[in-house]
Amino acid sequence: MARRCEAIKQDLSAMHSLSIAIVGGGIGGLAAGLSLLRAGFDVHIYEQSKALGEIGAGIQISPNATRILHGLGLADALAGSGVKPLAWHHRRWQDGRTLLHTPIASAMEAAFGFPYYQIHRADLLSALVAAFPRDRLLTGYRLLNLVERGDRIEALFDNGARVEADLVIGADGIHSTVRELLFGSQAPRFTRCMCYRGLVPAERIAHLDIPAEVQIWKGPGRHFVQYYVRSEQFLNFVAVVDQDSWTAESWTDRGSVAEAVAAFAGWHPQIHDILNSIDETFVWGLFDRPPMERWSVGRVTLLGDACHPMLPFMAQGAAQAIEDGATLAACLIEAGQDVGEALRLYDAERLARTAHLQGLSANNKIRFHLPDGPDQIARDAEMAKGATDFSLESIAWLYGHDAGRLGEGRHRAGKR
Ligand code: FAD
Repeated sequence: MARRCEAIKQDLSAMHSLSIAIVGGGIGGLAAGLSLLRAGFDVHIYEQSKALGEIGAGIQISPNATRILHGLGLADALAGSGVKPLAWHHRRWQDGRTLLHTPIASAMEAAFGFPYYQIHRADLLSALVAAFPRDRLLTGYRLLNLVERGDRIEALFDNGARVEADLVIGADGIHSTVRELLFGSQAPRFTRCMCYRGLVPAERIAHLDIPAEVQIWKGPGRHFVQYYVRSEQFLNFVAVVDQDSWTAESWTDRGSVAEAVAAFAGWHPQIHDILNSIDETFVWGLFDRPPMERWSVGRVTLLGDACHPMLPFMAQGAAQAIEDGATLAACLIEAGQDVGEALRLYDAERLARTAHLQGLSANNKIRFHLPDGPDQIARDAEMAKGATDFSLESIAWLYGHDAGRLGEGRHRAGKR
């Protein structure tokens, strides 16, 4: 930790004059804040909550994101509580038959140079917060409005504060106020999927002898994902169910364990053993939005769920938010003090990649939830060959990407 703070102090002494206000202190906002500070910019984060926190659940962080987090000095923190899964193990819903088993423990690092982690969200957030200078992270600041003041932007907050910056970044999640201010109001769409989430203390299910692999159970109209977090102290699960509508007032709520068990009636006994060992579960309506044509207007831009919310079926929402921050820092350095040019580059670098992932995530809902029949048999046969998009070779475009290096996008920006 001492070493991390020292590194950031050195960077600040060489700070570029550009001041940047990030709205939102979630995983995306904090990771971007660190990337931009590292690049020498004068960054502050404004978070609406009084206290920073994440929900009690796990998250998978793939090598395209750990590459960036390692560069930000978080390697030790991730290794401290993250779990490196042994394998991806896809299984059939009824009998648990293996559909695909891809060893990833050492293969992932050998292929991409950085590990794949499963981590408690609170542990990831704590690591990001600990690395970010406390006096630059302002809590209890809910953004209400943005006003252009010459070549600066003024941000107005609910606590009466007014802040001027050269660049404002909306990292304020799927309900983004910044997005609404830039592009108008548009409701997110219900994806016809809801999920139950929970954490099971590992000692309660020790008798099941579940290995430290990601298990993805596929069945008609639903799927179930499980993996360990926090040094294997907890098993995290996400139980996804097709559902026509979402009528709950909140998008996330305390759920009924009995309902979760009933939703997986007829599934393999291990699923029932896991669900029956939880004290509580949370239900989530899963929402997304279509890809956008642009994220940036003038001196304001977006990142993370504010601009590319997606179904979690590629496990890439947070990873892409982390990539956004690294790319934005690289674009600002490339364009010098020219914010407009930097944001043009940023849009060009990021839009196609994240739109593609939004599409793949939505498509996985269909593929994962196929009813038993010819399409499901064809899918399973394809998976049995091991050459599907779950192989390390075919995922290299995603996990091998270095978001801090500008490439493809720059080429496209020049051609516009
Ligand atoms: P958020 O986490 O929503 O953060 C936004 C922040 O902005 C919040 O702190 C909020 O309080 C603040 N804010 C909002 N409005 C304002 C305002 N007006 N003023 C100030 N602050 C404001 N992704 C992965 O990479 N891997 C996974 O394994 C994975 N699994 C998932 C499983 C499920 C079931 C779900 C639902 C999602 C999953 N995701 C995963 C996606 C991931 O959780 C999100 O993409 C990611 O958390 C988005 O981060 P963010 O910082 O963009 O937004």
